[in-house]
Amino acid sequence: MGGEGSGLYAPFTVLSTTAWAGSSLLQPVLTIPRTIEPYRPIVGDAPLAEIRALAEPLRGKRVLHVNATAFGGGVAELLGAVVPLMRDAGLQAEWRVIQGADEFFTVTKAMHNSLQGMALPWHSEMFELWRRYNALNAQLFGDQAYDFVVVHDPQPAGVLAELARLRGARPPGKWLWRCHIDLTAALPEVWAFLRPYVEQYDAAIFTLAEYVKQDLRVPLVAIVPPAIDPLSTKNMDLSAETVAQVLARYGIDASRPIITQVSRFDPWKDPLGVIDAYRLVKRVVPEVQLLLVASMASDDPEGWSYYERAAHRAGGDRDIHLLTNLEGVGNTEVNVFQRCSQVVIQKSIREGFGLVVSEGLWKGRPVVGGNTGGIPLQVLDGTTGFLVRTVEACAEKTLSLLQHPDEADRMGAAGREHVRQHFLITRLLRDWLRVFNQLAEGG
Ligand code: UDP
Repeated sequence: MGGEGSGLYAPFTVLSTTAWAGSSLLQPVLTIPRTIEPYRPIVGDAPLAEIRALAEPLRGKRVLHVNATAFGGGVAELLGAVVPLMRDAGLQAEWRVIQGADEFFTVTKAMHNSLQGMALPWHSEMFELWRRYNALNAQLFGDQAYDFVVVHDPQPAGVLAELARLRGARPPGKWLWRCHIDLTAALPEVWAFLRPYVEQYDAAIFTLAEYVKQDLRVPLVAIVPPAIDPLSTKNMDLSAETVAQVLARYGIDASRPIITQVSRFDPWKDPLGVIDAYRLVKRVVPEVQLLLVASMASDDPEGWSYYERAAHRAGGDRDIHLLTNLEGVGNTEVNVFQRCSQVVIQKSIREGFGLVVSEGLWKGRPVVGGNTGGIPLQVLDGTTGFLVRTVEACAEKTLSLLQHPDEADRMGAAGREHVRQHFLITRLLRDWLRVFNQLAEGG
């Protein structure tokens, strides 16, 4: 798999950043307003009381979240949910995205892959291009001042250093770097390049303690796993009628078994392995259907080439449905596909957290997931689903769940409860408020 991916970047040409069509400020992302109160019946009184208490000292504080894309992928999903809730808690929270041309996002995708352990060839022009786009985005920061600036992932991580250079002084407020990816096997030269940028931050937040690099020196390191929003259109309960309508629209037969993986077309998500596992299952259960659902994120130029590989691997099999956001697959459709699946699959080879796992479990479906990254936090092996490493194991566990629907339902119910306890957005909001309070107190 690693070899396949590395070819994507082989002959790299650096274009000029003058090709970049920027506007004058970082673009704000509009979010749908939400209030905290409706979560009470789902999570109970205590979490809401804790949120109110933690939010009190932070009332009116200005918070900016910065990331690379407004849709597609887990970070956009998280910000769309947590930013409105921060506002309802009394903070002035905003979300803005950086700008960049394809050449920048090609480099940042290579950076993402290298930080997750892929051996790609790097040369100084690639680092320089990343720095230049970060400098351009620092210019777009304007003269705004914030109490807390949360910069998500490596793409915009250089904005703080470049802004300090531009202004001749460090910008005010506390700056936090939120790393959503697994750095354990990061390519040393790429981490060595990024580390000095990250070390300028006041805090670094990771999904798992194992992801924290030993040589990273920042005043505060916090571990905060992501979470899902149970009231979003992606996760809320749906009527049987809506489910039936959506399935009919996409030509999916509700009377036959469905297995689904929802994720970007990316080598780490292993969509080709999912197709192979499906084929093994189909030998025993010929009526099974596979849904491979992928959104094409604006910061992911690799998506289409990987989509084509998946389409090629699927061949003419009419029971494999490759569905993307470009065919109108939005949040409701993803919700339907996950909830109508007998088994949800997330056969990742590497994974930061894997929001889709909690999404599947929350819908009461068992998940067969890759034994990597944040997936074992969510898939408790043999209780909420199964952890697998190979195509064969993925097929075996999926088949077993298809053949034992009662067990599948039991695991799904246990999974929903596990998510309620640990991976709902109110817990994430609480964790952010804790970190902000810690920083405000100079802790
Ligand atoms: N997603 C989606 N449509 C798709 C594919 C993915 O809405 O076609 C969403 C998915 O439901 C989840 C997020 O994108 O909320 C992916 O997050 P995850 O942490 O699983 O993976 P990432 O893409 O961040 O690596």
